[in-house]
Amino acid sequence: MAELRWITTDTETGKTPLFDAVVERRIGRGAYRGLEFLHVESRTLINRIPNSKRMPFEYTINAYRGCSHACTYCFARPSHDYLGLGIGRDFDTKIVVKINAPEILAYETAPQRWAGHPIAMGTNTDPYQAAEGKYKLTRSIIEILADRGNPFSILTKSPLVLRDLKLLEKAARVADVSVNFSIATLDQDAWARTEPGTAHPRKRLEAVKRLNEAGIRSGVLMMPILPGITDRPAQVEELVKEVIGAGAHFVAGGYLHVRNPLKDHFLGWIEKEYPHLARFYRHLYGTRSYPKPDMRRRLGRWINRAKARYDPAGPTRKPSTRPPVEKPSETRPTLFR
Ligand code: SF4
Repeated sequence: MAELRWITTDTETGKTPLFDAVVERRIGRGAYRGLEFLHVESRTLINRIPNSKRMPFEYTINAYRGCSHACTYCFARPSHDYLGLGIGRDFDTKIVVKINAPEILAYETAPQRWAGHPIAMGTNTDPYQAAEGKYKLTRSIIEILADRGNPFSILTKSPLVLRDLKLLEKAARVADVSVNFSIATLDQDAWARTEPGTAHPRKRLEAVKRLNEAGIRSGVLMMPILPGITDRPAQVEELVKEVIGAGAHFVAGGYLHVRNPLKDHFLGWIEKEYPHLARFYRHLYGTRSYPKPDMRRRLGRWINRAKARYDPAGPTRKPSTRPPVEKPSETRPTLFR
């Protein structure tokens, strides 16, 4: 149906195609106006990260590609280029939907094939972006993982996750489950400019609170903090204070990390939105992907100082209210040990 580069590219190089084809295009209507959904049948769902020793997870699931949250700094944008789509507006509006994700996951996690490794969601695109309201793929994935007693974690910017609270509680009774939020700033103007498709950060804080109250571990990643935009000490302190006030299981933060081809896209955006900061950003990121170590250390000190002020007892102050995980009755297969 649709002629997209991934098919030709894969065929020409002899690599296994990621998808058989785009089986249908749907134009978003009503709440989904402005979006286009590209239905694909994925050949696999669980992705293994090469060199995962440097990452906190080894296996990931992403049921969608592209993300209508439209964060200007999103590191997943270049993955749209790989599909033959643009990394700018295409990434925000043309959402690839792996419509057969639940069936593939049920197959891949059958006890004879899968050893129950923890699975991370939200590592590439947001599993609770707008499309999830329509397709409910993340919900179906959680249902399968809960039935299998398989541990998993979710990283999101969307309170839509609360729609699945009962299901998450069920999953957390049989496996290790956590739902973490990305909240980079409480600054109204910076939020609206940098993450135009996301829920207000205070809505996310409320979700963190509700999840922790329900016994689902929920922490906050204050990332990416943007130099000269969201890194004033008072901004950082206020965010840490509110995150701790929401009962977050942990809080960690860091500056924007950006490489090409995203770097050019992002610096071009800075030139348009914050022209007075353009030289500063070229200086900071021109030959590097991260601000200099002394800047990063200074930010770390601000975060730690605020944590010490608003949460002097540290995370041990909040023992989990979650009941102990019940071991699934079936014995785990030994295939992958
Ligand atoms: S929510 Fe995450 S995946 Fe979606 S655009 Fe923002 S950074 Fe990218």
